[in-house]
Amino acid sequence: MCGIVGYVGTKKATPILINGLLSLEYRGYDSAGIATIENKKIIVKKDKGRVNNLYNLDGINNLNGTIGIAHTRWATHGKPSKENSHPHMDNSQNFAVVHNGIIENYRKLKDFLISKGYSFLSETDTEVIPNLIDYYFKNGVHIHEDKFLSSVKLAVGDLEGSYAIEVISPLFPDEIIVVRKNSPLVVGKANGENFVASDIPAILSYTKNFYLLDDNEFGVVSKDNIKFFDNNLKQYEKNLKNIEWDASSAEKEGFEDFMLKEIFEQPNSIRETIGSRFSLGKPCVFDDLDISKEYLSSINKIYIVACGTAMYAGLAGKTVLEKLCKIPVTVDIASEFRYRNPLIDDKTLCIYISQSGETADTIAALKLAKLNGAKTIAISNVIGSSITREADYSIYTHAGPEIAVASTKAYTSQIVLLSILAMHFAELLGSCPLNEIENLKSDILDLPSKVQTILDDTTKIQDFAKQVYTQKDMFFLGRGTDYAVALEGSLKLKEISYIHSEAYAAGELKHGPIALIENNVVVIGIITDEKLVEKSISNLQEVITRGAKTLVITNQNIPNSHFDFVINIPKTDSVISPVLSVIPLQLLAYYISKNKGLDVDKPRNLAKSVTVE
Ligand code: GLU
Repeated sequence: MCGIVGYVGTKKATPILINGLLSLEYRGYDSAGIATIENKKIIVKKDKGRVNNLYNLDGINNLNGTIGIAHTRWATHGKPSKENSHPHMDNSQNFAVVHNGIIENYRKLKDFLISKGYSFLSETDTEVIPNLIDYYFKNGVHIHEDKFLSSVKLAVGDLEGSYAIEVISPLFPDEIIVVRKNSPLVVGKANGENFVASDIPAILSYTKNFYLLDDNEFGVVSKDNIKFFDNNLKQYEKNLKNIEWDASSAEKEGFEDFMLKEIFEQPNSIRETIGSRFSLGKPCVFDDLDISKEYLSSINKIYIVACGTAMYAGLAGKTVLEKLCKIPVTVDIASEFRYRNPLIDDKTLCIYISQSGETADTIAALKLAKLNGAKTIAISNVIGSSITREADYSIYTHAGPEIAVASTKAYTSQIVLLSILAMHFAELLGSCPLNEIENLKSDILDLPSKVQTILDDTTKIQDFAKQVYTQKDMFFLGRGTDYAVALEGSLKLKEISYIHSEAYAAGELKHGPIALIENNVVVIGIITDEKLVEKSISNLQEVITRGAKTLVITNQNIPNSHFDFVINIPKTDSVISPVLSVIPLQLLAYYISKNKGLDVDKPRNLAKSVTVE
């Protein structure tokens, strides 16, 4: 859940580590810390709070160590506090560890270590790791000549759960040992210095050459050398990957916040996601997606499984898949799917969506489907992420790095990608008249310019945000795909403005929630489906009668005078209309949050990539 960085070379490690942490803060940010080695001793500097606080810690600017590890924490075990911050050391201060993830059996391991005379300073699960390494260092039967590596391997053998770990030791002052399981970790190679990080952007300004670590793989990283070992500590070669990302693409580029920048990037991220996957008059093509007509004809259902915003993108995807392919689609919340014994067999296709590709619940739900014989497709924004390594097939959104915690461009790209996938399946199956698919293609190709039209004038949304930002509750109403986008609009508002909000299928209002409507409650209606205009207007009329203040987002000709605010958006096929109607909702959440003076990019209690269950 957190971010980790490591450095070994000839320069002072501390500034490089802190710099790396700053670009990882979106992964977790309740505490931060670094460890380096000086005069044969580990020096740890850490505290709760943001990474920037590190600069104020006593003596941190005078550290000269040229090897170090660093961490920003998103607490899972033990409150954010100095004691619970990483790095953690063993009792003899032989080993310092930073850890991303959760050690599920830490209580048992802690009891064992206490019985061996170890004591603990923190409430974290992580602190068992350095102590276990120390225990094996002193008592283990070593299976490799490098006793450091061997001790880490023995300790890791006892761990259950998820981890990306970096370890340093003054007894071996030239090496960082790294290992991962179900948590991301990369090693960056440079000249006379090497790097480790949970995410590529953290070290992209230093190198473009990366090794992507696999589960249960160990790396021994020194200044001039990077060695990899399998789970039996047998050394082997790994392929170096050149990642042609530009470090500046992960910066704000003049926007006040990453979220606003990412909202405005959507014309481009949609264009990139379409890429060369189709053009008018030509069938859709997916490289690396070897799905045949025979296979598609043999399946009788599709599950789309995801969490949060990705799940809402899945709801939009369901409409287009069902309409074009005539296969029933169920959208599931990953954490529910796993435990409800879903009916999965070899006639089931499961599609998993995760922007980061590291969402723990979604990955676990994917493993479950594989065990039961289903084919799996991962949709992710991050190449080489954990989910894409587990799935039978992976397709990417190409939305570019998304830094703001609240997802925007990933959501619209996910819907676009699901729509292209649906067209591809329908072309293979022959389940939909070709002219209908052709019309949809044309509408998808027009999306970037239509999104741009909405972005070109945000004044009305800004005005509305100014009028309503002090509200305590808001409601979002829609029917069909407008309901799917209402859910996403409501989630965006909750995430970054902390205003309580609910989304309802407009027809459900009279079955209960209308009791909550009173004078000046804000109701936001989304109306983009021609067939449902009258019905949706009637539902909004019901709340107006009860005193609600209304904003309507529509591509239909509706009587403006009924409503307090109307935002007109361009017309498109209703199955992909969420890609357009979500834009004013994203902007509304953004401007409300700004009016409240909140930290848009790093909302409280949230982290970008949810790698715990
Ligand atoms: N479970 C560890 C802790 O609570 C690590 C959490 C994280 O990944 O930041 O300290």
